[in-house]
Amino acid sequence: MTEVVEAPGAESAQELKRITHWINGTSVAGEPGRSGPVYNPAAGIQTGEVDFASAEEVDRAVQAAKEAFASWRAVSLSRKTEIFFRIRALVDAHREDIAKILTAEHGKVLSDAKGEVARGLEVIEFCCGIPELLKGGFTEQASTGIDVYSIRQPLGVCAGITPFNFPAMVPMWMWAPALACGNTFVLKPSEKDPSASIYMAELLKEAGIPDGVFNVVHGDKVAVDAILEHPEIAAVSFVGSTPIARYVYETGTSHGKRVQALGGAKNHMIVLPDADIDMAADAAVSAGYGSAGERCMAVSMLVAVGDAGDELVGAIKERLPKVKVGDGMQPDSEMGPLVTREHRDKVASYIDKGRDEGATVVTDGRETAPDAGGFFLGVTLLDDVKPEMDVYKDEIFGPVLGVTRVSTYDEALRLVNENPYGNGVAIFTRDGGVARQFQFEVNVGMVGINVPIPVPVAYYSFGGWKSSLFGDLHIYGPEGIQFYTRGKVVTSRWPDPATSKVDLGFPQTR
Ligand code: NAD
Repeated sequence: MTEVVEAPGAESAQELKRITHWINGTSVAGEPGRSGPVYNPAAGIQTGEVDFASAEEVDRAVQAAKEAFASWRAVSLSRKTEIFFRIRALVDAHREDIAKILTAEHGKVLSDAKGEVARGLEVIEFCCGIPELLKGGFTEQASTGIDVYSIRQPLGVCAGITPFNFPAMVPMWMWAPALACGNTFVLKPSEKDPSASIYMAELLKEAGIPDGVFNVVHGDKVAVDAILEHPEIAAVSFVGSTPIARYVYETGTSHGKRVQALGGAKNHMIVLPDADIDMAADAAVSAGYGSAGERCMAVSMLVAVGDAGDELVGAIKERLPKVKVGDGMQPDSEMGPLVTREHRDKVASYIDKGRDEGATVVTDGRETAPDAGGFFLGVTLLDDVKPEMDVYKDEIFGPVLGVTRVSTYDEALRLVNENPYGNGVAIFTRDGGVARQFQFEVNVGMVGINVPIPVPVAYYSFGGWKSSLFGDLHIYGPEGIQFYTRGKVVTSRWPDPATSKVDLGFPQTR
């Protein structure tokens, strides 16, 4: 798969990895003319060039998936389970290799990349139980001699469109349940870090997934639109930013597809005066700056209630100089670079914006960014942030943590409930009654009680509320199985031929 191509704009030819599509069980080079750069964010250099699919190339992948569907859905559940156990074993054996691919293209530190693979693996493990998950209901003798039962069947060709920040785990959230349920799949991963998906395609083939069942097309809006408009695609899962999630949901559903589109976030962490401030500060630093803040469940806004503010800001400030920012491949690095130069610059611009709007810059990440040529930014802490400021309203998606101060629990709750996003939230307190009240009245999909990144385990489902999710069903877990199947109810009679007669009346239930 590695070829030498001319780097666009480069003065001389340099060796770049070419990342191609994966269609019908083999790598397929894209048509010349449309491609995009892939970087090593820690070095700040281009390392690859990824093909961008045209509508015709997307159609080739869809046709391969369509052709493979009839035989894949007919494969027995015991055989599918066997293949899933093999996928599990292969991903487990190649954790380190996958993690290195993630670090090389995304920039996150290797330990974090391994954590991403581990969480994705849990979804695969959940799918190993597919015979149990697809069990229907059965009612014997619903009427005399009549049994009624429900079954769940696959939809056909499903597609997934994924973001840059979890290049292995988020695709696993989609293809694992989709395939286990008997669907075939076309994945359009982020064009910023596409290699992990091709690596996974090779592993799936090795595990025994038949050709055409899993396909990967790379690209931009052209590929996404081709997916959303394709008449042979039954369902689309999307994870990414809110404006694109809304667009994907509206366009996909207007073309008759089932769509689940998970969007962006602005996750609050409320710290009550009775909280263990050291524990809250550790949690805030971990959840605010882990993966350089490029997590949809990152804490980006701390809400300090009553007199918790000064102590909390002091405790966080004390911890920040110890956060080791550097190349994710170095074992002592705790936070890597941002994914691209443009994104780093955009995130950094919020520091001045915050100051101009009246926030206090406690720690300026530009001053501590390693001078290593990569897309680095150090950790930033902004205090006295107010809800009307852009630094409060926007999803910054970088290592910038804001603190807003309020007087009461009710004010804190109102801030969270009035926010347009509703992905994740956390509350830190020693008061079980308040925590329980919070869980009851907060309008957010995933809630942490003294847990800063409450990502549900694989046997629950993941998803936010409000502008963090368009669609009805959350992703993976039981709702993932529901999303990738549709129900059928069978009413059956095996009468004694001696009792058979013509009866034009409406069927009675007795
Ligand atoms: P993004 O929305 O820019 O891209 C996501 C996908 O959409 C990519 O595959 C991209 O190629 C495609 N895309 C981009 N622009 C498009 C356009 N104009 N038309 C059609 N398709 C387009 O998101 P990103 O920057 O890759 O990822 C970060 C975002 O994802 C953040 O907002 C983050 O909160 C969100 N996210 C959400 C969750 C969740 O579970 N809710 C999880 C991870 C990331």
